[in-house]
Amino acid sequence: MRSTNAGSDDSFVKIASLIGGEEYFKVAKALLSTQDATDEEIAGATGMRINIIRKVLYDMFGKALITGIRVKDEKKGWFVYRWRAKNDQVENFIETQKKKILERLQRRLEYEESSEFYHCGNNECPHVKFEHAIEHFFKCPICKNSLNVIDNSKLKEALRYKIDQLSFDINQ
Ligand SMILES: [Zn+2]
Repeated sequence: MRSTNAGSDDSFVKIASLIGGEEYFKVAKALLSTQDATDEEIAGATGMRINIIRKVLYDMFGKALITGIRVKDEKKGWFVYRWRAKNDQVENFIETQKKKILERLQRRLEYEESSEFYHCGNNECPHVKFEHAIEHFFKCPICKNSLNVIDNSKLKEALRYKIDQLSFDINQ
């Protein structure tokens, strides 16, 4: 796995906005500019609504991109969470996402390779596996039009290409 500390702030913000767009981008920026910020401090810095900020923070916490420390707010006398960006986790997060995508592509390829597929030509009707096409005497089970074999060789080729690329990338 490659680890680059340079620019990890940038990748932290980039990943945040890839996950959730503008709102995540703003929260990530605020977390980087204010170390150990509370949700209220982030609200002050971004002008965003506190419930949205909390939703973003809990999601990023769930994805292990930030940590939260429970501390007592001396002025108010109750406990608040202070949040910190885990910039060093960005690379791990990206690797995990790549592995998930790779697994999905591999499952899709296995599915495409598992059978021949047939279709009636109507966009509303689903693709039909060979076994089912036989059962229905090569008539679409929905609209009863004739089923024709689908050439999925281009799709399989594209899937194999993407799988090779990702596997190479992950194992670097
Ligand atoms: Zn049909």
